[in-house]
Formats: sequence, C-alpha cells, structure tokens
Amino acid sequence: SNDYRVVVFGAGGVGKSSLVLRFIKGTFRESYIPTIEDTYRQVISCNKNICTLQITDTTGSHQFPAMQRLSISKGHAFILVYSVCSKQSLEELRPIWELIKELKGDVNSIPVMLVGNKCDESTELREVSQIEGQAQATTWSISFMETSAKINHNVTELFQELLNMEKTR
Ligand code: GDP
Ligand code: MG
Repeated sequence: SNDYRVVVFGAGGVGKSSLVLRFIKGTFRESYIPTIEDTYRQVISCNKNICTLQITDTTGSHQFPAMQRLSISKGHAFILVYSVCSKQSLEELRPIWELIKELKGDVNSIPVMLVGNKCDESTELREVSQIEGQAQATTWSISFMETSAKINHNVTELFQELLNMEKTR
C-alpha cells in the first residue's frame, strides 16, 4: 500500500499535537487543547512514488487500551514523545513501548523515534538531560531526537528521519 501510517504517543501535555500541527500547518499555539484523536493526511513523495503520510495524534495515556492496540497494529512507524521538563512523561512511555514490542514482534524493522520535546525551555525547568534521553533510546534500541514545536527545532527533521528509516529497512 502507498499509505505510510505514523502514530504519535506520549503523556498529555508533552506537545504531541503541537509537533503534528507545526509539521502539517506550520503553526504553534500557547494554549493547551486536549485532543480526542486526530488523523492528518499529507501527500508526499517517497521512493520516487507518491504516497500518503498519515499521522495519528493520540490522546496519550488516556487512550482506551483497545484503541491503543488498534493504533499500534495499524501503524508503520511510531513517535514516542516526552517533555524534557517532565521525567514522569518519559517514564510514562515505558508501557506503550512494551505494548509496541508485544504487538509488533520484531521491532528492529520498525521505525521508532524517542522524542524529547520542549528543548527550548530554560535549563532550570529541565528534568531530563539530552544524555539521559539518548541513554533511554539506546536501551530500547530506537532513534532519538530533541525537538521544539515552539521554536520549530528539528520538527521537519523528525518526520523526514522516520521516512528515511522506512526506506532503508
Ligand atoms: P499534547 O497533549 O501532547 O498534544 O500537548 P500539546 O501539543 O497540546 O501541548 C501542550 C502544551 O505545551 C501547550 O500549552 C503548548 O503550547 C506547549 N508546548 C508544546 N510544544 C512545546 C514546545 O516545544 N515548547 C514549549 N515551550 N511549549 C510547548
Ligand atoms: Mg494533543
């Protein structure tokens, strides 16, 4: 199929919707509007073909378990987002990572990116260093990136990198 489905997971408030909106619409908002579940489609070129990039922005930890399983089953690539200002948000990714492993089996062949968002925040507010984020990704054998939806740092690169991982697998 020419559909490439990317699913974005992470605790409430870490910036999942902001990253997706920054990528799709180029916008950012300061207010927090909790998401139900939204899917965005963008036609892109990949492998000299036209394909549809489908990004599912989930509700995070409040997603119903059955919906979470369905999102994982249908997904081709996953973005696991935490906020660098919340150690708790990084810890909350563990069960979702466990579930991805359980449902997908051979995770080495699936593009997965651990993302530390809000890297624009001041060092006083930081609870997770870049080194700690990278170490977690290494433990899980997945890729890692720090981003900021606010100042538009590494957002295009994040989605581009996932697409590149898809091509090379
Ligand atoms: P979600 O619940 O994971 O979808 O989080 P949202 O995208 O709704 O963002 C939650 C809050 O964090 C909002 O107030 C956003 O403005 C803010 N936010 C999102 N991304 C960033 C970022 O990169 N830097 C900063 N400083 N704030 C952000
Ligand atoms: Mg949201």
